[in-house]
Amino acid sequence: MDSKSSLSSKEGGAPSVAQWSPSSWATKPIKQEAVYEDRKSVEKSLSKLERLPPIVTPYEIVKLKVSLRDVALGKAFLLQGGDCAELFDYCEENAIESKIKLLLQMSLVLIWGSSKPVVRIARMAGQYAKPRSSSTEMVNGKETPSFRGDILNGFEPEERELDPARLVGAYFHSASTLNFIRASISSGIADLHRPLDWGLGHVQDPELQTKYSGIVASITESLRFMRTIGADTAGQLQTVDLYTSHEALLLEYEQRLTRRMKVPSSASRPHDPFSLARDGVDLAADGKAYYNTSAHFLWIGDRTRQIDGAHVEYMRGIENPIGVKIGPTTPTQDIIELLRTLNPSKEIGKITLITRMGASKVRTMLPPHIRAVECSDYAGTVIWQCDPMHGNTISTATGIKTRQFLDIFIELQETLAIHQEQGSYLGGVHLELTGDAVTECTGGSEGLKDDDLSLNYTSFCDPRLNEKQALEMAFLIAGHFRE
Ligand code: PEP
Ligand code: MN
Repeated sequence: MDSKSSLSSKEGGAPSVAQWSPSSWATKPIKQEAVYEDRKSVEKSLSKLERLPPIVTPYEIVKLKVSLRDVALGKAFLLQGGDCAELFDYCEENAIESKIKLLLQMSLVLIWGSSKPVVRIARMAGQYAKPRSSSTEMVNGKETPSFRGDILNGFEPEERELDPARLVGAYFHSASTLNFIRASISSGIADLHRPLDWGLGHVQDPELQTKYSGIVASITESLRFMRTIGADTAGQLQTVDLYTSHEALLLEYEQRLTRRMKVPSSASRPHDPFSLARDGVDLAADGKAYYNTSAHFLWIGDRTRQIDGAHVEYMRGIENPIGVKIGPTTPTQDIIELLRTLNPSKEIGKITLITRMGASKVRTMLPPHIRAVECSDYAGTVIWQCDPMHGNTISTATGIKTRQFLDIFIELQETLAIHQEQGSYLGGVHLELTGDAVTECTGGSEGLKDDDLSLNYTSFCDPRLNEKQALEMAFLIAGHFRE
């Protein structure tokens, strides 16, 4: 699988860029490394993974790239959402279904608000590896290895040793989840001929109730009108595209699902992005290229985006669209260097910059980043996406990790305003959410308080918006677009 890449040299005799292969990351310094005791079992799991079929295909990846190009050009909006840490146990009918329904409903609201098509990417079917700020934590007064996500170890204190069998477990849970997503969509879960349950009963504030009901009435009326005039000849009201994504953290896993495959000829090619060979990455005459087939979209986390590090090295060679988290500690000059490394051919929509500054920092930190990109030769090539979750995590007086709905919305609002001022386009949002009635973030129309957090706090990592809070966030963003 690991075929040799030829060294390519830049024009003008510049030094050649190092050779890339799916395993070249292993020569680079790595953060968040997984060090197993039982290497033999790891190798066994990895060779099993190497033989298993792709979970997603190049055709689908290319289709997503075509849509993301539109997002970068300001012609579409990107909604990405799902759990912080997806557990193998979430591979279950109701949990999957409620998340699909929520993402679909949110996307309808955003289509209404932005008057643009919405590209949907679930943080699902593979979001099993978590970066941690500390390798150990105190559990019942005992120093214990941290939970690093179901692909590595278990949450229960006695399961914290890294378990190589989980690598294969991750593949099968990912494949089963995506199988059910595909089956549900092809069986009509997204069929807009069916009435939708908007459940606005919890909204106490009469003004908000009127506002949200007005949006729902408007969406319902538009759908009714389209059905009446028979505007659904292509069956577009019956089905949708829903793509998957996760943080590409555990590179040994990602490497084994990276396959050299033929570029699909039937996917539409607006700009022929595929003929553009990347430095050091061999796109051979056979039309084959490397695709990560574990998910459509992969991102690099805030802790692993070192330009000379293993994660960036791995990501620079794959055809998939890539996200990069940009936080308060990202030096402005690093962003252009990251873009040059990850997208030397300046493919439009290839890179999504996922900014997560925090409500109190976004005003000072975001504008220089936007200017650095938009005043460079990368102007207009990136998707700016706001993750208003990760810069707004706080602890309650009793030590519970939470986020306030208002902080999340303030960061989003500020980000929208800043992009407007800078003349750039906020192309999307990235949210941690679940379709269940959890109590992990405070605020929103339900009025959840610190004291309510213990009612149904089930996240094993970061606090998520529940179904009502997530939908309300979509209403607020849509309202903002329409103002
Ligand atoms: C996450 O998205 O769950 C995450 C860990 O984010 P970040 O890398 O931005 O901290
Ligand atoms: Mn998180």
